[in-house]
Amino acid sequence: MAKGFFNVPVAVNEPIKSYAPGTPEREAVLSAYRKLWNTHTEVPLYINGKAVTTGDTQEIRPPHDHQKVVGTYHRAGKKEVQKAIASALEARKKWSQMRWEQRAGIFLKAAELVAGPYRNRINAATMINQSKTIFQAEIDSACELVDFLRFNVEYMTEIYAEQPESTSDAWNRLEYRPLEGFVYCISPFNFTAIAGNLPASAALMGNVCVWKPSDHQMLSAQVIAEVFEEAGVPPGVINMVNADPVMMTDEVMTHPDFAGVHFTGSTTVFKGLWSKIGENINTYKTYPRIVGETGGKDFIVAHNTAVPAQVATAIVRGAFEFQGQKCSAASRAYIPKSLWPEIEELIRRDVESFKMGSPEDMSNFITAVIHEGSFDKLAKYIDQAKKDKATEVIIGGNYDKSKGWFVDPTVIVTTDPHYTTMETELFGPVITVYVYEDDKYSEMLELVDNTSEYALTGAILGQDRYAVEEATMALQNCAGNFYINDKCTGAVVGQQPFGGARASGTNDKAGSKLNLLRWVSPRMIKETFVPPTDYRYPFMG
Ligand code: NAD
Repeated sequence: MAKGFFNVPVAVNEPIKSYAPGTPEREAVLSAYRKLWNTHTEVPLYINGKAVTTGDTQEIRPPHDHQKVVGTYHRAGKKEVQKAIASALEARKKWSQMRWEQRAGIFLKAAELVAGPYRNRINAATMINQSKTIFQAEIDSACELVDFLRFNVEYMTEIYAEQPESTSDAWNRLEYRPLEGFVYCISPFNFTAIAGNLPASAALMGNVCVWKPSDHQMLSAQVIAEVFEEAGVPPGVINMVNADPVMMTDEVMTHPDFAGVHFTGSTTVFKGLWSKIGENINTYKTYPRIVGETGGKDFIVAHNTAVPAQVATAIVRGAFEFQGQKCSAASRAYIPKSLWPEIEELIRRDVESFKMGSPEDMSNFITAVIHEGSFDKLAKYIDQAKKDKATEVIIGGNYDKSKGWFVDPTVIVTTDPHYTTMETELFGPVITVYVYEDDKYSEMLELVDNTSEYALTGAILGQDRYAVEEATMALQNCAGNFYINDKCTGAVVGQQPFGGARASGTNDKAGSKLNLLRWVSPRMIKETFVPPTDYRYPFMG
């Protein structure tokens, strides 16, 4: 029972460290990188607070040096998946009843552990396993994860404070109960912060979780699991289980206590999960919550009043940082003919200045794409674009998998606005540009809206406010996060809640109250002080 209306610390965004030459943080993270690189890390499952090994292992290889093995991770069979579910349900008995300030204390502590003692290790693990440069690792695995943990605590208290009106004779109270059952969290490879947030956000609201990280993020997933444990998440509340995804999902989604899925990943997988829930709907005790943030085909639109250097920079950063593997990465651009020659030149100049290689060499801006499947897919699309009549590969177009999965930042120009790389999510450092006639601005906006099944992020650059207004209105349904005079990536927790619509997801806005609301099932309590003792109303005379 709470004995006070407690205030939580005001959430602030974790400052981004620079890692410039000569700074102490640079030396510290490089030392953590080398230590992890030269150690063979074994990543177990974490079930009911215990490390579980199964002997069914896979190797962990850095994408930028695929012959190097830095560790192994264990995979679960059906038995371990069932054990994780049973542990979660057992843990629920106490966790779901625990006072909110205890849960807040745990996750605020987790934030400070990531910001402090675990920062170098989680960044180094993300650099090695997901091939992020130090800057990309810092803004993800350190800062964004910390922000999720801090801001969600504040949002939780805002939700609890939202109460209905009462009268002098009846007191109305809204109780934000956790879901009745367990939540299945499935995370992608590309953001360590998302991997931590999917289970943490649900658990913060009093839920218990079975969390399946991506095969390609296991080094940093282990750090998250250790942080949760040190922060005081009780055994069974968050169980980290890697397994064959189809087998695991079959086990989870045929369980009567399955209460929700918190997913981030590709659209195809999410649609498959939704279908499976539909097939099993008569099995469940409650209607499961379905929350999924999925793919994108994110756009940059320039009006002919845009500043060319601003457009070029938005494209270069938006499309190529982290090798274009952000769900928000720009992958199609619409540029007016009058500006294209100058913008093209600026992009070319920037791309030619890029260095590509291991993230350990901090002068590199580009590293490798995540795995061979991604490399092969990108190579196939690039090769096809070299052959097709409607397209020209004007920048990049080379790839080399001898040491790592390296794909050159590539710009394709097309005369066909529906060319496949204008519509399909490639998830790599490839952007396709459609050059439009300056006087066809309105038609071009219609094209942007109708071209892709996705609606995640998009940007308009231009100085003419009428043109900006027109784009803002015309593109209102094709991006959940819309940027004016900026690139279409880089959402910050607490500032730009993130998520898309259409085939990009359920738009439940990670890092906001809207998301946390999905993990509660409110109970309304009305208490009447002096109940009536006669059924008759005055109008009856
Ligand atoms: P993915 O869909 O391949 O994998 C995501 C997770 O789903 C992984 O844990 C994977 O093991 C699991 N999975 C795969 N097949 C499954 C199945 N049949 N059943 C259950 N789980 C299954 O995605 P990825 O390559 O890890 O990540 C990239 C994708 O994620 C891109 O499409 C990107 O746009 C999207 N993404 C979206 C957002 C967003 O906020 N909208 C954020 C990050 C990534």
